[in-house]
Amino acid sequence: MVERKALIAGNWKMHTTVVDGCRLAAEVAKKCYQYEDREVLLAPPFTILSEVSHVLQKSSIIVASQNVCWENQGAFTGEISPLMVKDAGGTAAIVGHSERRQLFGEGDAMINKRLRGGLASGLLMILCIGETLDERENGSTFAVLEAQVRKGLEGVAADDMMNVVVAYEPVWAIGTGKTATKEQAQEAHVAVRDVLQKIYEKNVAERTRILYGGSVKPTNVDELMAQPDIDGALVGGAALDAESFGRIINFA
Ligand code: PGA
Repeated sequence: MVERKALIAGNWKMHTTVVDGCRLAAEVAKKCYQYEDREVLLAPPFTILSEVSHVLQKSSIIVASQNVCWENQGAFTGEISPLMVKDAGGTAAIVGHSERRQLFGEGDAMINKRLRGGLASGLLMILCIGETLDERENGSTFAVLEAQVRKGLEGVAADDMMNVVVAYEPVWAIGTGKTATKEQAQEAHVAVRDVLQKIYEKNVAERTRILYGGSVKPTNVDELMAQPDIDGALVGGAALDAESFGRIINFA
């Protein structure tokens, strides 16, 4: 069995400005103890990446952007490049979040470009996938997850998978207070790992971290993290509160 280091990631979405974001980052840093078995990541909005990176300079917390462009510079109005993320002190990026897919029309092909661009620049990339409520109810969950994983990872070499984390986020559980049961989450994570094994090979599937996201809270983190294929959490709402996020980081 390959040991996978847990990753607890906080996605601040479109929340926080300089003062409150820096305060939140500093409070979170105080709640991060030196663990061997877990890593913590924060994804503030682009506008405060530099400031938050500065606050977290002496901590081991990874700073990530919430999306990233595939090119390092050019005529891409409204985009942020891997170079800019790194310049602001970030070393990671999230791509394919369901809000990007649903509200901004990003499809698998674009998400794949973003992922590959980030990898080419040495960023740790979190690829989000997840089914909608309709898809779950009509029984296509696993087909949807397989397609999103395959298309999202198209052209990504096995070696580059060292820098890829997959986040399973059932869309119906994001920001709704509804969490997938630990059984539903574990089952989906196994399915995703199986797809990774089909695309790559067993050792890649075994060492790739798969995070669960969707209403992760202090009250459900322990049972989720106790599942053998859940390697971490991508936390939205509860990441905006240092107490709650601190409790999540310090899951049992
Ligand atoms: P939530 O968000 O924890 O508020 O459900 C999770 C996410 O969107 O990453």
